[in-house]
Amino acid sequence: MTLEPAPCDLLVKGDLILTLDAQDRVISSGAVAVADRAIVDIGPADELHTRWAPAEMIDGTGRIVMPGLVNVHNHTPLMVTRGMIEDIGFAPMYTPGIPQGHWLTEDDAFALSSLGMYELLRAGCTTVVDYYRHPGACARAAADLGLRAVVAGRVHDAEPAALTTGRYEYSRAVGEASLRENAELIERWNGHDGGRIRCDWAPHAPDTCSDDLLREVSRLAERHGGNIHTHLCQLPLEVETVVARSGLTPPQLLDKLGLLNERLIAAHCIHMEPADIELCGRAGITVAHAPIGNAKGGRIAPIIELREAGARIALCTDTSSGDLIESCAGPSPCSASIARAAYSTRALCWTGAHEREPGRSGSETWWARWRSASVPT
Ligand SMILES: [Zn+2]
Repeated sequence: MTLEPAPCDLLVKGDLILTLDAQDRVISSGAVAVADRAIVDIGPADELHTRWAPAEMIDGTGRIVMPGLVNVHNHTPLMVTRGMIEDIGFAPMYTPGIPQGHWLTEDDAFALSSLGMYELLRAGCTTVVDYYRHPGACARAAADLGLRAVVAGRVHDAEPAALTTGRYEYSRAVGEASLRENAELIERWNGHDGGRIRCDWAPHAPDTCSDDLLREVSRLAERHGGNIHTHLCQLPLEVETVVARSGLTPPQLLDKLGLLNERLIAAHCIHMEPADIELCGRAGITVAHAPIGNAKGGRIAPIIELREAGARIALCTDTSSGDLIESCAGPSPCSASIARAAYSTRALCWTGAHEREPGRSGSETWWARWRSASVPT
């Protein structure tokens, strides 16, 4: 007896299906069936055609079907600075003469965040960690676009205007306003659409938050659960400021205040002494690594050392949104060289899926090179 194909919502076909499952299966000429927003079947396309009658079909001939990319650190409203900050070598919040977050209205932030998230989606990123001023606008943009997002506010009590002139003025009012914004975000958006939107706490950085504010965030985050997002050892100025203020390096300060643990996702981690690397590794933090963004500022993070010390490494574009692969180690000779020189990996230097190696399809060639380039040597 032949069974009738069962109805499903979507069937996606591709030259290669990268399952990234426990067996790391790669299926040639495969397909993925989706019903009720969940993957219900993966296998050879001709087999799935006998099992499923899709309402919609996407023909990915010549393409790879794979899980969405995850961008672990971004600020989509900073699309407003595109073209202004790429070569300044300093983070936008510290830089005079460029648009600042506190200048944006809620509507501005929503429009900019929508644009940034649309770019991420177009480039294969389906999950983003996004935190900035007007975080409710970021959450609304992700909710509207169908992106999975972890959103947080930008908590700090350093006066932004003073910061752009190199001065640190900690203001209780600024701190309380940013705490309130993050708390309201969690109240309104955490768990939206079956958990597609989640919300966390995000102290901006150890230098832009006073010890008291960091202590308060630590307490609130402990009660909330989830992860904590921050910038860590991004700039020499940050390290110098924290050492002068507390006598501790930024990782030591976060450790003292209960923030340095496996729930911390820390962007950059560039200016670290060996003892800081050891401490971060032992704590099991996740490093949000932005290789090309760092390199544009003339900086290289000790990523291999951090990983060997025990930290987890994840990729991000930070500020620039756009294409995660291009932003991390794209096909340009420059970025490939950075990957090779700085991270001791075989460089990510494929030239495109249209190029074929003997006995391999274009997609198989791409995948083989990607896997080869991704394995540290
Ligand atoms: Zn950032």
